[in-house]
Amino acid sequence: MEEIKTEARCPNCNEFLFYLEADNDIPYEGKITIHTYLCRNCSYRNVTIERHDRDSPKIIKFKIKNKNDLKTIVYRSPDASVQIPELDAEISPGIASKGYITTVEGILTSIREKLTIMGDGEDVNYLRQRIDGILSGAEEKITIIIDDDSGKSRINSGRVEVISKE
Ligand SMILES: [Zn+2]
Repeated sequence: MEEIKTEARCPNCNEFLFYLEADNDIPYEGKITIHTYLCRNCSYRNVTIERHDRDSPKIIKFKIKNKNDLKTIVYRSPDASVQIPELDAEISPGIASKGYITTVEGILTSIREKLTIMGDGEDVNYLRQRIDGILSGAEEKITIIIDDDSGKSRINSGRVEVISKE
């Protein structure tokens, strides 16, 4: 991989930035190009990921009915938001996020971790208890909704409902 010196300056130390490009094939997303601007003087790095394959925009719904459903594999693409209406919870698409493979359990755990930042008010504690209950296999039914304009997200279950946005 060749690094090219650019005219752009590092926002940290004002040295010239170097640019490098890498093509890659990754599961679920297909062809991607990784663009990196890096500073050799300090540790500054700016990475953007360009994706070349897109499917049609869609919404994927999955109703969690039992403890087994928690183990279901979920691929969330960088463009996708995840909502759980019963918990009034939403995970927004991240900036320069790479997308990731997780499980329903993993999604619930990351929502629970965000609650920790929100302190321990009565509402937060109640929500935390509900999530703990669901994670331990309680009766409460929830729905995972993935809203994805790139159409690349997946939930690996035969009970998934897919709604086209077009
Ligand atoms: Zn620098």
